[in-house]
Amino acid sequence: MISYEIPDPFETFVENKYKDYKGMLYDFFAREWHMKAACCGEELYAPNKKIMNKIRLYHTRNECLGGY
Ligand SMILES: [Zn+2]
Repeated sequence: MISYEIPDPFETFVENKYKDYKGMLYDFFAREWHMKAACCGEELYAPNKKIMNKIRLYHTRNECLGGY
């Protein structure tokens, strides 16, 4: 009897690859980058990676660390 419970190797690979992924992701529909802030888990959005880094640093320093 064939068991369909065996997970697809490629599917498992992709799931594991992105399971702990906390970096930036590109939203093709919204045409912007988004990521979860490491400090509080808030979603941040930016049109490109360079601006995302600025937004992330600004957010961490000014909004979550109170200006430090
Ligand atoms: Zn934060």
